[in-house]
Amino acid sequence: MNKMIIIGVESTAHTFGVGIITKDGKILANVKDSYTSLNAGMIPDEVADHHNTVAEEIREKAFNEARITWGEVDFISYSAGPGLDPALWAGYNIVKSWSEKNGKQLVGVNHCCAHLSIGKLWNKLKDPCYLYVSGVNTQIIVQKEGKYRIMGETLDIGLGNLLDKFGRVVGLGFPAGSKIEELAKKGKYVELPYTVKGMDMSFSGILTKVQQLHGKGVPVEDLCFSLQETCFAMLAEVVERAMAHTGKQELLLVGGVGANKRFCEMLDIMCKERDAVFYKVPMDLAGDQGAMIAWEGFLRKNESGDIEVNPHWRTDEV
Ligand code: AMP
Ligand code: MG
Repeated sequence: MNKMIIIGVESTAHTFGVGIITKDGKILANVKDSYTSLNAGMIPDEVADHHNTVAEEIREKAFNEARITWGEVDFISYSAGPGLDPALWAGYNIVKSWSEKNGKQLVGVNHCCAHLSIGKLWNKLKDPCYLYVSGVNTQIIVQKEGKYRIMGETLDIGLGNLLDKFGRVVGLGFPAGSKIEELAKKGKYVELPYTVKGMDMSFSGILTKVQQLHGKGVPVEDLCFSLQETCFAMLAEVVERAMAHTGKQELLLVGGVGANKRFCEMLDIMCKERDAVFYKVPMDLAGDQGAMIAWEGFLRKNESGDIEVNPHWRTDEV
């Protein structure tokens, strides 16, 4: 097994991860550790400290799990952006030192595109419509003439950010998405603004509204349920329009919010109603991790290299 292995390092936000993948797409290890906080969301410098503290331990665990040594590694792929500036620089300095110590080339990749590529690999898809919903990002994407095109996106915050900010207000800790999903099971519907604007959507007004309702004593469970139903319906509507417009019959959901079962159920119903097929990725590949960075590096090896970091790098610039 000579130099058939790529390691991928993720550090754009809360997660520091090291993934190890072969050139035929077999994941040998995907180890990560994520920053959490009780009531402060993500404090950028603390996130960077977190990454520096866990890096070596995570790398060692991944190498042990994959049973590899540096000698077998072809190159190191890392996520160059978009993301939190201090977290990106922490990650970059870590991979830079690994690269120099072990004589391995660096390949910087776009974090968002890595989410899309790993979902495509896992489901063996050719050309789906992508729905990418994470903390910061909420985008509907298709590929056209060799480039990603954004058909619709959030005009302000990402859906994950809305969930996490609401979670912070009501004391659920960070990240809050999975706790909101649990609480939503016991909730009833209260009306929230439904803010689809053409092919784009906006979430910040919904955040203001749920904060107001929380202040008026509306039960948290009801707010969780209504947040999910409203925001997921908004996205299902826009995605359906994107699929109708482009004629795509496959939808692929990626990003951390894709772990939500109710979200998947709604998208699956929408797809079935138009004879399309809904795909998602398993939980351990939905959120941020290193395997997706390794695979994106494999796909981009000839067009990228040591590009330092790029905090505002958009999907449609790749
Ligand atoms: P990512 O940035 O792709 O790792 O996604 C992180 C986001 O996913 C955070 O905002 C989480 O709150 C959110 N998330 C994780 N699990 C769930 C879930 N079960 N339901 C909704 N959102 C979730
Ligand atoms: Mg992400």
